[in-house]
Amino acid sequence: MNGILENQKIPDSWKYASITTIPKEAQDLKSVKNYRPISLLNVDYKIFANILAERLKDFLKEWIKEEQSGFIPKRQMKDNVREIINIIEYYEFTRKEELALLTIDMEKAFDNLNWDFFKLLIQELDMGYKFTNAINQIYDKQEAKIKINSLESKSFSIGKGTRQGCPLSPLLFIFSLEILLNNIREDPNLKGAKIKKYNYKIRAYADDLICIIEDPIKTIPNWLFKIREFGEVSGLNLNMDKTMILPKNMTKKRQEELTAVSGIQTRKKIKYLGITLTARNFQLLENNYVPIWREIKKDLEKWKYLNLSLLGRISVIKMSILPKMLFLFQNIPIVRKSQIFKNWNKDISKFVWKGKKPRIRRSYMIDEKKRGGLRLPDLQIYHDTCGLIWVKDWATLENTKIITLEGIDLRAGWHAYLWYGKKTTEKKFGNHFIRSSLIKIWDKYRKKLYWKTPRWISPLEACQRREIGGEIWPRYKDILVKENGKHNLQSQEEINRKFPNVGWFQYMQLKEYYNKDKILGFEERDSFWDKVMTMGKKQVSIIYTKLIEWETEEVTIKENMTKWAKNLGEKIYLEEWEKAWNSRLKATYATELKENWIKMFYRWYLTPQKLSNFYKKTSNKCWKCGDQVGTFFHCWWTCKKAEKYWKEIHQKIQEMLHIKVELDPKYFLLGMLNVENDKNKEILFNYLITAARITYAKDWKKKETPELSSWLNKVLDIMNMDKLTYLLKNNNGIPKRQTDWGLIKKKRKEKNK
Ligand SMILES: [Zn+2]
Repeated sequence: MNGILENQKIPDSWKYASITTIPKEAQDLKSVKNYRPISLLNVDYKIFANILAERLKDFLKEWIKEEQSGFIPKRQMKDNVREIINIIEYYEFTRKEELALLTIDMEKAFDNLNWDFFKLLIQELDMGYKFTNAINQIYDKQEAKIKINSLESKSFSIGKGTRQGCPLSPLLFIFSLEILLNNIREDPNLKGAKIKKYNYKIRAYADDLICIIEDPIKTIPNWLFKIREFGEVSGLNLNMDKTMILPKNMTKKRQEELTAVSGIQTRKKIKYLGITLTARNFQLLENNYVPIWREIKKDLEKWKYLNLSLLGRISVIKMSILPKMLFLFQNIPIVRKSQIFKNWNKDISKFVWKGKKPRIRRSYMIDEKKRGGLRLPDLQIYHDTCGLIWVKDWATLENTKIITLEGIDLRAGWHAYLWYGKKTTEKKFGNHFIRSSLIKIWDKYRKKLYWKTPRWISPLEACQRREIGGEIWPRYKDILVKENGKHNLQSQEEINRKFPNVGWFQYMQLKEYYNKDKILGFEERDSFWDKVMTMGKKQVSIIYTKLIEWETEEVTIKENMTKWAKNLGEKIYLEEWEKAWNSRLKATYATELKENWIKMFYRWYLTPQKLSNFYKKTSNKCWKCGDQVGTFFHCWWTCKKAEKYWKEIHQKIQEMLHIKVELDPKYFLLGMLNVENDKNKEILFNYLITAARITYAKDWKKKETPELSSWLNKVLDIMNMDKLTYLLKNNNGIPKRQTDWGLIKKKRKEKNK
């Protein structure tokens, strides 16, 4: 590999790609264009290319400007959509000029990129002798074979396009495209939206481009000329059929003129990065959420006929509904009415409960597994989570280009609205489509986050947005000093050491704020939000988990837990429940076992007593003995027929496992038995009683209790499931001790003799 950096040839095997074709869904398979090619490259080549890619990334994250959000660490696609809907909002209320949003489609962009173009670029930028050599070697000669039904075609050579399947490829692409973006940025004849020191002209996510064009009839020819000019040298050509214009503030006649000069049809709706945009933001809900939910409902309608368990149906929501909704939440967190979430929840609940009345409270359903919940996704909380991630920029004051646009018409700074309640006096704040929905989310959680003034608040930012020397705002944490347990404001000289731009007038303002804020006091500890402000990866799941914790706070002690304690006549400690949720439930992959435990825990089974409450004519007497009231605990335990069943099971288990254990419902119904020094026996005990409960529940409404032989058959089932779980976990690299079934197998052999 080092040789290649010194301009040696690459091995021949690195030049080959083996291409497999995958048919596109529901297309005419007689036509070649309906197959998607996937190329396979040598692994040693990929290792080499990966090393180069990591090094190139380091260079690109400085060199490629923020308008491109694809493939570069820490940049997010959602910022593209956020900027565009803010632009639409800006041209709705503040600026009335004519505007065109132009989405550009480049014909098979990755496949058409001209090799000489980026090779030349690498040379021009002087990216180093070794890197230049490596790229020149890789993009010297490439060959490919097509593999169909394990037969390989003759090889043919490839002379353009970035290499499919190569980690360098997307980077070389955005690297080349940056030349176009730069040209657009710097050309004064291409007019975008200019606000303060920022120019909003273009956004890109890989090859998905959108141009913000002011005064379009006059300037669009310049834009198209520039793009075509770039196409001639780079090989990236406009696909006019898929290039679209969304006009704003333009009459019909003016739109026709625009089409005449550009050759591009104007549209009422355009799709950018999966989001449907129109000239008015209030239509976002109607155009994005409504159609997606209609589709989801159709799917749920189809899937309801599948024979899935409760946990299976929850997984369906998690794996196929949530990702679709989360995508929208991240890009447009603008759902303000809680009624909408209620309607969605209703549809989900209908699916999860197969159209019947829910048997577990919603707050228990959405709760974390470690607290005995089932972690059914809560869409509103996911939406709030995504909204808070946007609000985060108002607090950190980072992502300045976007928040400058988002707050362009405001009289005060962001912190005034986040902390000083300024929006009540400034109606304009809430008239903005995005701001109004975000501040609503923030207000909902603010009180949970802070009782006292947060130390990230910058009073100067709050009281005026005019820059005091760049975007460095002194925050309380920078200008307070703690003396004798009290927070005091530093002197102006001390503050000037870090913030030389704070003059006499600003210092007076600081003092005024400080005097007011010290009455409430300053937050000493970092709250959850302080952590969010510095968070990078995984923020969605961390914030969501926290919000769920708050949402379900009051239900940590679930009412069924109290009922169990009453039945057992003793207190069950939270640790015991936790052990059941965390270790016992995790021990198996078999849904049937998990579900049985959950049903016991939630006291799921409908009893004669409950049924007689619904249907006045039914008797409330136990189905088995027929003379006692059929409460949950009676049916499971105190009924004389149940008693007999459990006694037999109890005796057999003691024989099998060679243990003495009390016949206590806490052990037999809830499995809360700890066998000292013998984990294996504890596991076997749990399997045996779970089998007993599953068998018992099968005959729930029958007069007779099940035969012991059905119990033993179930035990065998479970033994097989346990072995499968072991194999699966082993396969996935999750450590699990293999259960020793020796004791039970021995017992069976004795019996068979
Ligand atoms: Zn009974």
